[in-house]
Amino acid sequence: MSTSNEPIPVLARQFDPLLRELMAFSLVQKEERADGVSWVLTPTAQRRLSELDHPIPEASSMFVVGHRCDGCREHTVTRRVGDQLLCARCQALPEHRAAG
Ligand SMILES: [Zn+2]
Repeated sequence: MSTSNEPIPVLARQFDPLLRELMAFSLVQKEERADGVSWVLTPTAQRRLSELDHPIPEASSMFVVGHRCDGCREHTVTRRVGDQLLCARCQALPEHRAAG
């Protein structure tokens, strides 16, 4: 993807603010090559894109009353997270957040 002197389509200019933000947040890096300048996403940005491409399932927004929490066994209001019913305290635990 080398740069050229062809005019940039008007539509592409709509992304200028987004592209400036990528630069401002150091999410892209410039690579000087023999055939010109090339811009690539940083490894961190690439990893994050992969994560966003496969989002962790959100906890259900529906609350369940009258069940025990599958985490602490407390009788309280729970929410379905993956295949478990968890209270708010157990949902906040890293292992349950990661499990989705
Ligand atoms: Zn719990």
